Amino acid sequence: MTEVIPHWLDKQADLSPDGNAIETPAGINVTFWQLRDQSRSYAKKLAAAGVKQGDHVAILSGNCIEMAIAIHAISYIGAVAVLLNIRLSPSEIAFQLNDAHVSLLLTHPEAAELAEQAGTYKDSSLVIRRFADIDRYAAANISLKQELRLDDLFTIIYTSGTTGFPKGVEHTYGNHWWSAVSSVLNLGLASQDKWLASLPLFHVGGLSLLVKSVVYGMPVYLLKKFDVELIHQGIIAGKVTIVSVVSVMLERLLERLEGGSYPASFRCMLLGGGPASQTLLEKAKQYQVPVFQTYGMTETSSQIVTLSPKEALAKLGSAGKPLFPAQLKIMSAEESSPIGEVGEIFVKGPMVTRGYYKNEQANQKTFQDGWLATGDLGYLDQDGFLYVMDRRKDLIISGGENVYPAEIESVLTGIEGVKEAGVIGKSDRQWGEVPVAFAVRADKNLTKEEVLEHCRKHLAKYKVPKQIYFISEMPRNASNKLVRHQLAAFLKDEEK
Ligand code: ATP
Ligand code: MG
Repeated sequence: MTEVIPHWLDKQADLSPDGNAIETPAGINVTFWQLRDQSRSYAKKLAAAGVKQGDHVAILSGNCIEMAIAIHAISYIGAVAVLLNIRLSPSEIAFQLNDAHVSLLLTHPEAAELAEQAGTYKDSSLVIRRFADIDRYAAANISLKQELRLDDLFTIIYTSGTTGFPKGVEHTYGNHWWSAVSSVLNLGLASQDKWLASLPLFHVGGLSLLVKSVVYGMPVYLLKKFDVELIHQGIIAGKVTIVSVVSVMLERLLERLEGGSYPASFRCMLLGGGPASQTLLEKAKQYQVPVFQTYGMTETSSQIVTLSPKEALAKLGSAGKPLFPAQLKIMSAEESSPIGEVGEIFVKGPMVTRGYYKNEQANQKTFQDGWLATGDLGYLDQDGFLYVMDRRKDLIISGGENVYPAEIESVLTGIEGVKEAGVIGKSDRQWGEVPVAFAVRADKNLTKEEVLEHCRKHLAKYKVPKQIYFISEMPRNASNKLVRHQLAAFLKDEEK
């Protein structure tokens, strides 16, 4: 039997009508009652614009209140929100619009031109509207959803496309519900909690904050985008108690902190989205910033493994344990790996997607007996804590030894004069493959010999890069993730 809950925004508007759902640095406050009211009204206007239950409505926008309202409005109609990354190119957006069978694309005025460019690639009848265009419709007289069926599809979000082509991940209401519940079982909830959202709402980590806000009755402090000064001031002034970040953001925040400290009211810096270097974690520890490392992916509706507050310092570098309703196992050659041995990370739980939208091939590869094969490598220590090593696709095997590019990159970025680093394998007659490194320098006087010397000090011989290339920019995708296979293309060019 499908589980049904009252519409979560109706529920919270009833429980805490005057509580703030969204606050912004410009001083705008939207209460749960207002958010419900505005979302329902927008839903009726969307219906007047032709949106029906089951339709796929895409949104192309940076963070703003209109976007939050549109997302909730879509849920009141029972349509599906397809969230698009504003840093994608027009052809990448066009691919996602086509792939997800989108009929209406809503945009922020700032993204309208990009939307139009993407729209020209599409041959079917895609309608593009700015958020405000919908406001001009007279509300249609339709009945809105009063309940949410947990098995129903709510959102489609594409993976970042770091290892291949982006895949449309389906999230049901149940996935989002369980994600919010699992997170709070781990982090707890304090009455004064306010979660800062500067991660994009079009990624699942950002979107999850909108759901958490509604489910917990907690305000979200919504930033248009990452802004070091606004976040720093927000924390220092005690305006926010939890902030979600990825490692580059944490790095910038620690630089801004300049050896100072955050107030005791600030209780959690939730760090996820990708690997974090040991140097960064050590620095956060030294500044007593309460960093909680997490591991998750679009497919797991944000975090699925988190280092709990109790263990954060003792298990530095670990992503923690699976959240309460989640399970994890490490597999190699179809068998569970023994403790301490690296294998592929498999996860299972109610926050895990039921599959990729209309992508049977990827579904068959990814799902096995109810478990999701993450494509990531990691191991569990004797206490059951997960250490994420790297992506399986990027593993380098050199003379029979496993070499993890992320480990070498972490050592490289530990060098003061290195801003960014990327490591890949290069084929080698003697060893099969050898690691080679690419670095963007912060200090132009840094020499390759100095880099190698540092590596020799901190890495086993077979992990020391055989070549160092200084480049001006790392290849990154629209999610700002390092795209290692583009470094391989650079090597090929060089060999020509
Ligand atoms: P694609 O699946 O299209 O290649 P992607 O995997 O980068 O793109 P996302 O869902 O945005 O798309 O990212 C999830 C991935 O991020 C994880 O599978 C993992 O590789 C990486 N990641 C997340 N958290 C961590 C972590 N704590 N440590 C190391 N890697 C992490
Ligand atoms: Mg992935």
